[in-house]
Amino acid sequence: MRRKIVAGNWKMNKTLAEGTELVQEIKQKLQSGSTPQADVIICPPFTHLSIVADLLQSTNIGLGAQNCATEVNGAYTGEVSAMMISSTGAGYVIVGHSERRAMFGEANEITAKKVVAAIQAGLTPIFCCGETLAERESGQLFDVVKAQVSTGLFSLSAEMFAKVIVAYEPVWAIGTGLNATPQQAEEMHVFIRSLIRNEFGEGAAENTSILYGGSCKPSNAPELFAIPDVDGGLIGGASLTAKDFLGIVYAFGQ
Ligand code: PEP
Repeated sequence: MRRKIVAGNWKMNKTLAEGTELVQEIKQKLQSGSTPQADVIICPPFTHLSIVADLLQSTNIGLGAQNCATEVNGAYTGEVSAMMISSTGAGYVIVGHSERRAMFGEANEITAKKVVAAIQAGLTPIFCCGETLAERESGQLFDVVKAQVSTGLFSLSAEMFAKVIVAYEPVWAIGTGLNATPQQAEEMHVFIRSLIRNEFGEGAAENTSILYGGSCKPSNAPELFAIPDVDGGLIGGASLTAKDFLGIVYAFGQ
């Protein structure tokens, strides 16, 4: 059975004090509420990782970064390596988020290197893919996602690929309030799973968690998570309050 996962991507939000407060609130609410039916992961900014790791000790909440360097160490001012992330106690890293692709020139080949760096450092990559509105409207959506997934992930060995979580995030739905319809999400998740099946076989396809991201909220999470090929969510804006984030986590049931 593949894992059900809800991961929160805080992006460049929350001071350390605000982030600490949010983590405490999420932790307390999860401890006093019923056990969630999905694994919960929090991805704060780099500067918060070490402190959040301490706060999350002896909980089931996972911790991830939002990006990592392609290189292991050296003269790369401002970069943070996967091994450094791992050394904070984090277990995950988001790779290839559309904001990094669009604003920081992260091409498919770079995401491939980051995925390898992450796995070699013992991290689980949460690999993002998704088309822009123009790509969808011109009918290129499947070609774009295929190129992202195949270049980003298909040079891995089967053993390395088994560590990967995929997140389908249609770029037009991120932070816009628009979300994919259940049919649009299902169609793309089935397509991504078929790509994985063709490359790594049925077992890998069935075991890979594919998350949906893009304006997911407590109100639309139940119908998105009811789709058989949607294994959870990568949540941006709604991960910034405990109420909304946990509303999404509990969309899998209490
Ligand atoms: C994201 O950036 O990963 C995301 C899904 O953002 P939002 O939920 O705000 O659309």
